[in-house]
Amino acid sequence: RAEHTGDNFALVLIDLDRFKNVNDSLGHDAGDALLKIVAEVLSEELRETDSVARLGGDEFVVVLEGVRSISDVELVAGRILNRLALPTRLQGHEITSTASIGISFYPRDGDSIDQLLKHADIAMYRAKSAGKNRYEFFLKEMKTTLVDSLLLENELRRCIENEEMHLHYQPQIDLRTGRIVGLEALVRWQHAERGMISPMDFIPLAEDTGLIEPLGEWVLKHACERFQAWLMSGLNFGKIAVNLSTKQFRLRRFEQTVMSILMETRLAPQYLELEITESSAMENAEEAIHMLNCLSKLGLSLAIDDFGTGYSSLAYLRRFPINKLKIDRSFVNDIDEDGSDSAIAKSIIDLAHNLKLDVLAEGVEHLDQSHWLLSKGCNQVQGFYYSKPLPEAQLLALVNS
Ligand code: C2E
Ligand code: CA
Ligand code: CA
Ligand code: CA
Repeated sequence: RAEHTGDNFALVLIDLDRFKNVNDSLGHDAGDALLKIVAEVLSEELRETDSVARLGGDEFVVVLEGVRSISDVELVAGRILNRLALPTRLQGHEITSTASIGISFYPRDGDSIDQLLKHADIAMYRAKSAGKNRYEFFLKEMKTTLVDSLLLENELRRCIENEEMHLHYQPQIDLRTGRIVGLEALVRWQHAERGMISPMDFIPLAEDTGLIEPLGEWVLKHACERFQAWLMSGLNFGKIAVNLSTKQFRLRRFEQTVMSILMETRLAPQYLELEITESSAMENAEEAIHMLNCLSKLGLSLAIDDFGTGYSSLAYLRRFPINKLKIDRSFVNDIDEDGSDSAIAKSIIDLAHNLKLDVLAEGVEHLDQSHWLLSKGCNQVQGFYYSKPLPEAQLLALVNS
């Protein structure tokens, strides 16, 4: 049982890929010699604070102490694989070995050694089935984003407290007039060392850690405050749209938070639009209807985001006090020049009209898409073709030019 001193550690489970072959073809002595070599390689690659143990068979477990980032662990895992790949002489034969490695993190992936081992084991089997001679993390998204939640959680907390987050604003355009009728506020985290971290990476982290509450409040307040300042200086962009995460929208008395932010910033509610995703609205729809009604009574507008990606019940959709459907950009992507591949976009537009709702297409990147959308009766568009999300200074430069 590994004793650990640091707060965070990684559990690295190493399983040799072709150990049985060595045993069978060269005999048990060779097998034992190989295991010894592996144990040596491991201890050479590790620091004094780390520990290694043989679990039995050809499995080893390593505990890496005081892990500060995912990349530290990737480095060690990569070095172990490289070292094993170097040929060794074993009873007159040159052999190389490979291993499959599964990695779990304390505390994120479990709070007992048993649980961490189980999760590392799952990751290890994933490494095997992905072709062996590789490592996998228990939680895949940690690997692909390199977002180290262990460290980032503290930094995110600090950045929210110090108001080091930013908002960018993406114009929403009325297709018929070509004018800006709204702005969507999108949160940005400019990290000192890691550069820009995508909201797709830190919003889930904020949700898991409860930080979504202060973050969401900051976004809402800042967006309302800026929009009111622009109104006061004679600039009217129509509406400011703010995204709500599921967790945030499900908070008890969330409508009270919205109300006090509107009062504090003096923004009239008709300028505010809240976006909730289709899947978050449909999950526990009765409760969602109740919250949407509370919000709607404040006088603001409501949009359903990423529409088409969830499973909507039309019966519920009819009961939602909403103003707008936003067609998910994956369907807008599908619109080709002759519009043949765009049945879903077309049916969402028709559905919106039947329900007397506005409809906005997200992710418009080409003029052709706009032409097609206009011909099908879509009201609004948003996308890189018109403008990327912009920081305030660039947004103001755009409208002044
Ligand atoms: P979303 O609400 O669907 O926001 C639209 C995303 O599409 C934005 O990504 C935007 O930059 C991107 N986008 C806009 N036009 C185009 C285009 O023409 N082509 C392509 N390929 N992409 C386009 P972003 O800013 O990275 O945000 C990603 C998601 O993160 C958002 O998706 C939203 O779900 C979430 N998010 C962003 N800000 C907030 C926030 O303040 N609160 C919450 N809860 N979620 C947020
Ligand atoms: Ca094995
Ligand atoms: Ca959105
Ligand atoms: Ca969307």
